[in-house]
Amino acid sequence: MRYERLRREMVKRQIEARGIDDPQVIAAMLKVPRHLFVSDALRDQAYGDFPLPIGEQQTISQPYIVAEMTQALALGPEDCVLEIGTGSGYQAAVLAQIVYRVYTVERLHPLLLNARRLFDELGYFNIVTRYSDGTTGWREEGPYDAIIVTAGAPKIPAVLIDQLKVGGRLVIPVGSAHTQDLVKIIKHRDGLRQANLGGCRFVKLIGEHGWKDS
Ligand code: SAH
Repeated sequence: MRYERLRREMVKRQIEARGIDDPQVIAAMLKVPRHLFVSDALRDQAYGDFPLPIGEQQTISQPYIVAEMTQALALGPEDCVLEIGTGSGYQAAVLAQIVYRVYTVERLHPLLLNARRLFDELGYFNIVTRYSDGTTGWREEGPYDAIIVTAGAPKIPAVLIDQLKVGGRLVIPVGSAHTQDLVKIIKHRDGLRQANLGGCRFVKLIGEHGWKDS
């Protein structure tokens, strides 16, 4: 099938060639039909090396960024992960191939409905969705083994660190409205360890502990 071939090319040239080597991440990205997470008109561009619009002025991340963030979370099959910013649902679908359960939160209802429908159609029953401001996390279901924020934050919301287990990992873009650094935090018993994974560019994280809605 044509999309399967495009997907293999994407993984080879954009993911493996740039150093992603976690076999779970590679297997997940070979499996999830990325073209179904964009509108019909953009289907043929879905495996390109760039983000794409998904409506509501939001974007589905570039494939490499999805792979990089997923690998950075160092996930295992028993893990429960919280994602802030469901968007198209693609990142959640990739996570769902690797972990036990994905909790994903989105503040724009039309995007959430679309993603939810797709998860049901594709049989991704280990993804739980919620319509809310994710900057306050999802306390009832935590603490989590990992948290991924897929929108750019002005600073790291402390409540998200609170909702991580000891040993848990958080990956979040932090910076200005236009450019951010991808930051990884590991929560240890005696404090936090922080690493900078490099520059990136995400849409704004809007909410109580993010940017103000304008
Ligand atoms: N992970 C998505 C990327 C979507 S872009 C994907 O794979 O397609 C970022 C998303 O974050 C947008 O849909 C935006 O509406 C959402 N977002 C921004 N601020 C948010 C908040 N406070 N809570 C939940 N979602 C938020």
